[in-house]
Amino acid sequence: MIKIKSSEEIELMRESALIVSKTLGMLASEVKPGVSTLHLDTLAETFIRDHGGVPGFLGLYDFPNSLCMSPNAQVVHGIPNKTPLQEGDIISIDCGVLKNEFYGDHAYTFEVGEIAEETKKLLNVTKQSLYIGIREFKTGNRVGDVGYAIQKFTEDHGYGVVRELVGHGLGRTMHEDPEMPNYGKRGRGKKFVEGMTVAIEPMTNLGTKNIKQLKDGWTILTADGKPSAHFEHNVAIVNGKPELLSTFKYIYDALGIESNEEEEFRQIKL
Ligand code: MG
Ligand code: MG
Repeated sequence: MIKIKSSEEIELMRESALIVSKTLGMLASEVKPGVSTLHLDTLAETFIRDHGGVPGFLGLYDFPNSLCMSPNAQVVHGIPNKTPLQEGDIISIDCGVLKNEFYGDHAYTFEVGEIAEETKKLLNVTKQSLYIGIREFKTGNRVGDVGYAIQKFTEDHGYGVVRELVGHGLGRTMHEDPEMPNYGKRGRGKKFVEGMTVAIEPMTNLGTKNIKQLKDGWTILTADGKPSAHFEHNVAIVNGKPELLSTFKYIYDALGIESNEEEEFRQIKL
C-alpha cells in the first residue's frame, strides 16, 4: 500500500534527507587513496549521531554498518572493510538516516583520485539518468514512465540496467510501496499522486546488466567484473511536480563542482 504524506510529514522527511546529504558532503572531502571504507563508515556514524539522527542502515535487515560501500565492480550493499581505496577506484556510498521516525536514503558514486575516462562517462550518464527519471515523477504519470525514461537513456549509451534491485517508496519505513524499477514501459504500473515520496536510484553497469552476490549474503557485484555506478535522490510530489528532498550540493561544495542540475526542478512546468 502506498503511504501518502502530509506536507508536515514531507518536511520531516526533508530533515532526515538533509542529514544524509550533509553526511555525503562530509565524506566527499575524506574519500581519497589510502583511506579505508571502514574508516569512512565510522566518520559517518559519528557525524549522523552528532546531527541528531540515527544511522538508518545499521541493523536494518541485520546489515552490520552505517554505510553501504560498493567500490568498482560492486553495485550496491557492499560492507565497509579495512582495504584502502586506491587511485583510480570509484566508490558508491549509500547512506540512510532515521530522524523523527522518518528515513532519508540516498547515494553518490565518488571518484578516488584520477579515474579512467570510460568510468567517468559511466558516472556522468548514471547521474543524468537519475534526473531524467525524476522528471517523470509527477501526478498523472506512472511507475513505468520513470523506469522507461531511465532505461532508454542508459541503454542508448550501451550500459546495463540492473533488474534485480530497484528504487522504492520511502517514509516511516526504509522500503515502502511502490517499487521503482530503473526499467519499464510507458504508462504501466501504479499512478503517481500528490504527497508520494520515493527514492529513485539507477544502478548502472558499464558492461552486462547481470549481477552476482558474494557469499557474505550482501554484496552485489557485476557478473563481468566491470564497474557499476549508483546515484540516488529522495523525491516528493508537491504541487503535482517532483521536489527533491535530498541534495548533492554539499558534495559539490566540498569538491568545488559547479552544477545547476537541481535548480532545474524548481523551474519545471506541467
Ligand atoms: Mg540508498
Ligand atoms: Mg534506496
